[in-house]
Parts: sequence; structure tokens; C-alpha cells
Amino acid sequence: MADLTAPRVRFAPSPTGELHLGGLRTAYYDWLLARKYGGTFVLRIEDTDRTRYVEGAEERLLATLQQLGLQPDEGPGLGGEYGPYRQSERLSIYHEAIQELIEKKQAYYCTCTPERLEKMRAEQSANKQAPGYDRHCRDRYNEKPTEPHVVRFRMPDNEKITVNDFLRGNLNVATSTLDDFVILKADGFPTYHSAVVIDDHAMQITHVLRGEEWLPSLPKHVLLYQAFGWEAPVFVHLPLILGKDKKKLSKRHGAHSVEKFLQDGVLSEPLLNAIALLGWHASDDQEKYTRQELLAKFSLEGLQKSSAVFDPEKLAWLNAQYIKTMDIKDLSVLARPYISDVIAPQYLERLDEALPLVIERITQLSELPERLSFLQNELHYDQEIVPFKTQSREEAHAALQQDMDWLMAYNGEWGTQALEKFFHEQVETLGKKVGEYFWPLRVALSGKKASPGTFELLHFFGREEAQKRIQQALQALQ
Ligand code: GLU
Repeated sequence: MADLTAPRVRFAPSPTGELHLGGLRTAYYDWLLARKYGGTFVLRIEDTDRTRYVEGAEERLLATLQQLGLQPDEGPGLGGEYGPYRQSERLSIYHEAIQELIEKKQAYYCTCTPERLEKMRAEQSANKQAPGYDRHCRDRYNEKPTEPHVVRFRMPDNEKITVNDFLRGNLNVATSTLDDFVILKADGFPTYHSAVVIDDHAMQITHVLRGEEWLPSLPKHVLLYQAFGWEAPVFVHLPLILGKDKKKLSKRHGAHSVEKFLQDGVLSEPLLNAIALLGWHASDDQEKYTRQELLAKFSLEGLQKSSAVFDPEKLAWLNAQYIKTMDIKDLSVLARPYISDVIAPQYLERLDEALPLVIERITQLSELPERLSFLQNELHYDQEIVPFKTQSREEAHAALQQDMDWLMAYNGEWGTQALEKFFHEQVETLGKKVGEYFWPLRVALSGKKASPGTFELLHFFGREEAQKRIQQALQALQ
């Protein structure tokens, strides 16, 4: 059992674009651990690969975390005792630590040119040798070369080391299978391996949660900790997230960036709920969790190492469930930006009344403009959809005229059920089928093939607006 008194955990994304589901999962688990055990959630920006740097990505990332309610405790622009929190601003820290390794003869300068390395690789491949640096510069510890150079880690010869992953236990590795990897690049930036170790140590990180794709790097990191003489944190490599076909997750599987899910009106809570289950489960088979329930139940012991499968339908289902149970006033606040340009102003004011007409049928808020498009002042009727089944246009016209007459005659209470009862009775008296009268009326009120029910619409619009709409539909059928 991991010691979880005030853990310090970090989310360490590279600002190379959008936040993906795997990254969000790491951030959420970090956040849950920090909040649950009185710890600290650190955001560190790993921007040492300047060729992949994307302007604005860091700001968007932080805004997305904040929108989801995953506020880091320390990070760029947020303060904290262990800053700076952008790796590009920590170069002197890396240089100092790497210098120490050179002095201990555990790292060395390498002046091999790209051309030489290219030639070396070609020869290794021609001779069917394992690829890897041939240790040509291994004894250059003393003075810093004046020509372009990198710094490499001096891999211990023929040692067997044991590395530990919280989910997988001990793993044995022979150093003979590892290369003298680069720890400082020619541009003066550290590589991922050295920066991550130096920072996790300097920031006193106790638990490193990250995707399984980093597991092969673990021996290098453990060796760096040993070389520095530092205690390593607990490593937890979270399982891969795959698509339903068990292939690497991509857009093809409906896995968009987190930003896109949020833009489409997937709400924070169901999104986090779905994400939490990609690699973690409690002993029960519950599928719906609030954040509070997750805080109560989440633990490292509940994590699994077998790959997780992202199911967009499950997310859509969770989102739909959540939308349905939300307070309508809160939902209108979230819904408004999606429809403010689409529906007429007088209906925007009545959003609290309009939303219940459609919430049963939506899975995400971006479906609202289509679902609520009947709330425009001018509807364009498609003559073909007004008639019910095999009804002719003339028959539909006559039925709608009859609906209009009934409507004028109605003087009961203006409620959905009362209206339905009255119209039912009228149709029955004529000995006809309800569809023949209710369908054209519903299309007249909504302008659409699919819409809320006839009497919900009638109730919502009121007598005057309903008459106006029926009149327009009658004209369109001429
Ligand atoms: N910067 C790495 C990434 O983009 C972080 C890996 C780690 O957490 O160690 O995924």
C-alpha cells in the first residue's frame, strides 16, 4: 500500500497542442489523490522540445483544467515554492545537476557529429548489430568542449537492476540492453529523461502517475536517481487507453481532444466520470460517480494495469443522464451560448420552459440548436412532411383546418394533458385516427419531422402563436 500522507503529485504535459483523454486521466487521478489525501497537485510544463512547442497551448491547457474544476495548487502563474514550473525556465538547475554527474564520471561530453552518428548507425544496421551509441567519447569528462556537443549518461556496465512500478511490481533490466543516452542536448536543453528526474526530485514529487508509454523509460530514470544518489518516487504507469477495436485510440474512435468534448457540450462531471473509469474501478460495478463519490472511493489500489477501452457511447449516455438530472436553471446557463444566435429572443427568455421539451432527447449541448430550431419566428414548411403517412396534401390541409377549428372552440385549461384529452375526444367522435390530426398539427407547430410532442408544443406556444403557425402551414400546403 502506497504511503499517501500528503502526496505531492504532478501533471507534466508538453505544450504541443491539445489536451487528450490520456492526459486528462493523469491530471484527474493526480487531482483526486491530492485532494483526498491532503496533498499537492503540481502543474509542470515540459517545454524542452522547442521544435514541438505550440504557442498558446499552455494557456489553453490551464483554462481547460480550471473549467473542469481541476485547479492545480502549484504551477506557472500560480506560484509555489518549487518554481519555476516551466522547464525552459529551469535550465540553470539542469546544468548544475548534470555538471555534478560529469564530475562524478557518471556522464560525459560527446562531440560526435550527426554525420558520424549517421555512419555509425548505418554500419550497425549493415552488420546486424543492436543499434546504440558506440561509446566513442566515453572518457571525455574533463573540460567542456568548445565545439558543439551533447552530454551522455554513462551506463553502468553489465549490471542487473530492479525497477518497481506500483501496478506491475518489480521488473528486472540488464544495463547491457541500455544505451548511453543523451541527457543534455546540443542546444543546451535537457532531454525528457534528465529534466523529468531532476524536476521530480527538486519538486519533491512523491508519486509519479503517467501513461504506460513511459514505462520503457523507467530504467533510465531509476539509473539517474541512483547516479544522483536520490530517492526515487513511487511510479504508477497508467494503462493504455484503446478504442473499442483494441487499437490505439484516435479520432476514429470518437476520441476528440478534451477541448472539443467541452465545446460540443459534454459537461465536466460526466466527462470526468467516464475518464475516471479508464483504468480504475471500485470493488462494486457502479458506473455513475459524482466527484464526491470518487473522492471517497478512489485509491491507487483500485487502478488496473490491463488496457482500458474508451467507449464514446458510454460517455454520451453518462452525459445524457447528467443533463436530465441537472437543475434547469443551471442547465440554461450552460445551454445559452449554444443557441443564443439560433432562437428568437422572446424564446431565449423562456429557455427554462423550453429546455424540458427537449432534454430527454439530447446527449450533448451541441445538439440543442437543431432540437430547438422550432423556436424561430419564421418557419419554412416542407410540404412533404406535413401529411401523416399516406395522407394527401389536401387531406393534411383539411385535418389541419379541423385542428384549427378545435383550437378556436377550446375553452378549457391551457395545459398539456387537458389539451390532449380534448383533441383526443374530438378525433374519437369523428371515428378517425389520432395521427391524422396530431401529426400535421405537430409539424405545423414545429416545422419539423422530429420535435417535441404535439400538446407540449401547443402548451408552450399558447393559443395565439399556435394559430399563427397553423395558418402558415395551411398556406404552405396550398
Ligand atoms: N511531458 C511528458 C508528456 O508529455 C510527461 C511524462 C511524465 O509524466 O513523466 O506526456
